[in-house]
Amino acid sequence: YNLIVRSMNLLSKKAYVNGEWVPATSNEVFEVKNPADCSTIEKIPDMDVGDVQNAIQCASKAFQTWKSTTAKERSILLRKWFDLMTENQKSIAKILTAESGKPLSEAMGEVHYGNSFVEWFSEQARNVRGEIIPSPTPSKKIMIEHYPIGVVGLITPWNFPHAMITRKASAALAVGCTCVIKPAEDTPLTALAIVKLAEEAGIPKGVLNVVTSDRKNAPAIGKLLCESPLVAGISFTGSTQVGKILYQQCAKGIKRIGLELGGNAPFIVYNSANIDNAVEGAMASKFRNCGQTCVSSNRFLIQEDVYEKFVNKLVEEIKKLTIGNGANTGVNLGPLINTLQMNKVSSFVEDAIRKGAKVLTGGKPAKDIGELFYEPTVITNIKDNMDVYNDEVFGPIVTIIKFKTEEESLKIANGVNRGLAGYFYSQDVSQIFRVNKLLEVGMIGINNGIISTAEAPFGGIKESGIGREGSHLGIEDYSYVKYTCLGGL
Ligand code: ADP
Repeated sequence: YNLIVRSMNLLSKKAYVNGEWVPATSNEVFEVKNPADCSTIEKIPDMDVGDVQNAIQCASKAFQTWKSTTAKERSILLRKWFDLMTENQKSIAKILTAESGKPLSEAMGEVHYGNSFVEWFSEQARNVRGEIIPSPTPSKKIMIEHYPIGVVGLITPWNFPHAMITRKASAALAVGCTCVIKPAEDTPLTALAIVKLAEEAGIPKGVLNVVTSDRKNAPAIGKLLCESPLVAGISFTGSTQVGKILYQQCAKGIKRIGLELGGNAPFIVYNSANIDNAVEGAMASKFRNCGQTCVSSNRFLIQEDVYEKFVNKLVEEIKKLTIGNGANTGVNLGPLINTLQMNKVSSFVEDAIRKGAKVLTGGKPAKDIGELFYEPTVITNIKDNMDVYNDEVFGPIVTIIKFKTEEESLKIANGVNRGLAGYFYSQDVSQIFRVNKLLEVGMIGINNGIISTAEAPFGGIKESGIGREGSHLGIEDYSYVKYTCLGGL
């Protein structure tokens, strides 16, 4: 499979800076691996702060002209990029599966989703409008307009190698910003592939730059992006731990920052719920990308009357899952991304078992399939001192908690320091409105487990982040409001 991927035109061995495909100045490279069998797909530039400094300068120079393009020009270029990515969606998906491990059907889903942001922001570009506000003084006029903030640094994770880039970059480009993108070290090939198509679409040199580096260089590169006076803002999707570091570094220069960090989503099933639908939603929200999404359900709270029925049906459905190499047809559960994740997931489950959790199915790595595969797992008897309760698991682990009252469910759901997504199933209209109001999260799925779409604002509260991506609000991270008072009228 790596051979097929390596022979594709869209696969790049170089980074992309100022419209050129370049190696690292040091000529260092690092390996990008296929998590299905831990084989090397490609070696690509391991850039350092010097390379990134150069990319920032190029993006800064490009900003001087890009900011003066019309919204219509930017819209047309984004649309061309979208069209080319649509034409090439199968090839992009193949690269994505090779480096991320997600099943091809899911990779296709992500490409579709990632592309949709470029389409959406190509439309939004021409809809960013100013306002005239009624003045309290007859001789004055109050006007507001939106301006691009400048060069933005985009640091992205491996779980959605395509969509996490387009969701940021297309919003930035739509309002007139230029970007330096630092993709995750596990999945830079998808980033390079989509930027190749941006180049083909005619997006000018220096407007989109991709700097690739191994993990060891990421902290220094992140620091440079946060502290460079030539960078106006940072948008980061990743762990809460790294998000906190970047937030601190941005404080020095009072830099704009958007953060999409970890979640700890509750998935609540009330007595009135349609259990078949709830199980379907649970499967979709838990096992997509092998549980490695920040909106994955992390704690399943099931009300006592429907507990047995829900749990039995869920275990039945889980047993139908096929684990394996995502490139093979029929596979719906791929590997975890790397050894670090494998160790995390394993230790989460071991910690829970040690503290009294009961395993209904799974509970250990699927070593017979490959080094990075983990069995889809259901554990019950969950207590609040377990890591699986307090932290984001990022793996195919369903942790189930039984509750009695609505009040108890909300107390458990809200009793964590994260607040990204939350889901609940109920057919009781009053309860739907009550719980919707009281759940402390940025996004809610009621009677459905899949909520992400370009039209809706994605983001969290508490330690899950700052700002919103996608939707008409998605441009706010990349633009500032200028108020003008025109007097003497
Ligand atoms: P995950 O746990 O999902 O790998 P991380 O937050 O560690 O999430 O990684 C997300 C992105 O942040 C990746 O591109 C990674 O290289 C980058 N990164 C990791 N550490 C730092 C850091 N100290 N500063 C800036 N970026 C970092």
